[in-house]
Amino acid sequence: MKIPVLDLKPQYQQLKAEIDQAIANVLESTQFVLGPEVKLLESEIANYLGVKHAIGVNSGTDALIIALRALKIEPGDEVITTSFSFYATAESISLVGAKPIFADIQADSFNIDPTTIKEKITSKTKAIIPVHLYGQPAAMAQINTIAQEFGLKVIEDCAQAFGAVYHGDCNHSYQSCDDNQQQKITGKYVGSIGDVGAYSFYPTKNLGAYGDGGMIVTNSDNIGELAQMLRVHGAKKNYHNELLGYNSRLDSLQACILRVKLKYINQWNKARRNIAENYNQLLANHPNIITPTITKGHVFHQYTIRVTNGKRDALKDYLANLGIGSMIYYPIPQDQLPVYKGQYQPNPITMKLAQEVLSLPIFPELSLEKVTEVAQAINNFQ
Ligand SMILES: *Cc1c(COP(=O)(O)O)cnc(C)c1O
Repeated sequence: MKIPVLDLKPQYQQLKAEIDQAIANVLESTQFVLGPEVKLLESEIANYLGVKHAIGVNSGTDALIIALRALKIEPGDEVITTSFSFYATAESISLVGAKPIFADIQADSFNIDPTTIKEKITSKTKAIIPVHLYGQPAAMAQINTIAQEFGLKVIEDCAQAFGAVYHGDCNHSYQSCDDNQQQKITGKYVGSIGDVGAYSFYPTKNLGAYGDGGMIVTNSDNIGELAQMLRVHGAKKNYHNELLGYNSRLDSLQACILRVKLKYINQWNKARRNIAENYNQLLANHPNIITPTITKGHVFHQYTIRVTNGKRDALKDYLANLGIGSMIYYPIPQDQLPVYKGQYQPNPITMKLAQEVLSLPIFPELSLEKVTEVAQAINNFQ
């Protein structure tokens, strides 16, 4: 591809000296799993996000699973999440033995619609997992209000939203907003707003390692302690195991790479927002394309347009022929995947958007020239 959806090379080339040195130091130290680098990363991320505890784990998926376990979600429980996300979100709920229940989304934010959460609450509901999809903070004021009203826990799936900041629900077309709730959490990083935040450091994420990695963040001492135990076979003290846990430790090589990259994350997220603003301007007059809403605090893990004339797949092929990459996140809603065949009634907005979404090339180093080339190609396609 002449313009790929994502190119990780320029970032490594920029930071090669720093990263190679950090890796060499870890190799010399022979501390490969957890260890000082992981501890330092955990405290730096806790500090960055403004949370009390950060616990490094093997992946974003494990962060979700361990968060659910730390909140004592069990078989027989129901957890409400969005039907429009990567399967790891629902899978983690199923893997702890609970039942995922799928709420619909708001078309203008791609995120879970609080009014449809309320409709799905039963006596078995224990938690809500909003996903800050594409880097856009979900409507956390309303979600927290519902959680308080019904005694539910909130786990934020922040896999796509490292560095995203909540600035209110009202930017989207939600029906009502609780001003008090909103003021209390405005300006906070995602992951620090619910009971627990789950992050992924998969290489393609905004803060990406060079392998798998994840992190659980929380302000609760109790949840933090349980998460620490669960990642190392349910033990506080070696060989004194108390719980059925996991082998889900973050390794030092990933941690040292992430520590280098953390210093640049704000600058990279700013570059992503810039690209999104440029795309929005350049595509503003296209009759069959809806560009994404740019809210304050959105970090554009993906820049995702809606193609409203039924020609999404044709546009994707047309771009590919010009050497321009694009991706569909996600072609099949979570609740309609083969794994859940026949179990769920589809959610109408999610179904519609799954047919319309197309994610265009975006990464911090993508030049304005390339962005313009992509937009011009799209403008030539009606
Ligand atoms: C990537 C991703 C995950 C899973 O993270 P891994 O580190 O790949 O396990 C979970 N939820 C969402 C929304 C994601 O994008």
